[in-house]
Amino acid sequence: MKHYPSEKWADYSRGTLGKREAAEMKRHMDAGCRKCRQASEMWSTVLKMAQQEASYQPPESAVRVAKSFFAASRVEGKPSVVTHIARLIFDSLRQPQLEGVRATGVAPRHYVYQAGTMLVDVWMEPAPGMDAVNLTGQILEKSKPTQSIVDIKVRLKVGDLEIASTKTNQFGEFHLETLPIASPDVQLTIGDEPKITVLIPLGLIGGAQSPKFD
Ligand SMILES: [Zn+2]
Repeated sequence: MKHYPSEKWADYSRGTLGKREAAEMKRHMDAGCRKCRQASEMWSTVLKMAQQEASYQPPESAVRVAKSFFAASRVEGKPSVVTHIARLIFDSLRQPQLEGVRATGVAPRHYVYQAGTMLVDVWMEPAPGMDAVNLTGQILEKSKPTQSIVDIKVRLKVGDLEIASTKTNQFGEFHLETLPIASPDVQLTIGDEPKITVLIPLGLIGGAQSPKFD
């Protein structure tokens, strides 16, 4: 059976698909595909939360953390950076249906972060046959055309140290590869410095620790 990828279900839930494709996907789900139904329900939940949290302001403590991330790389006197801290709104390990199969070490992990109307879908999984971790993601701007998130710089950093960087493709997708990183300062930044728009505090990569919900 052919399944639909997660980002398709994101589009489905946002209502940005063509009628025919959406109908085909609904048929597939109604035919009893649990995997796709779960993906669809996850995205509906995430989007509902995103709707409610559109006016969300990061707490003072999060702002302070973000400022310290950048402070070291800034020469005094330069204009300060305006950064939106993405908020973790979905973590696959926190899902009740996954109780009992909690993995340790490098396990596939799915996160969704939100900053304003932007959703960032992040998958972490071990690279096959290697010690590395694949970090794939997609930036989704709610109800906006895809062009707005094409060719955006995505950086993987530990504090001020850049580990890897890439740009989003025409679907807003990005892919980075890294070794597991045992530092709580692991972050993704989206957008071009010095005008960084979004900072995603990832927590450890490939570790058992997870980022914190607010
Ligand atoms: Zn399916």
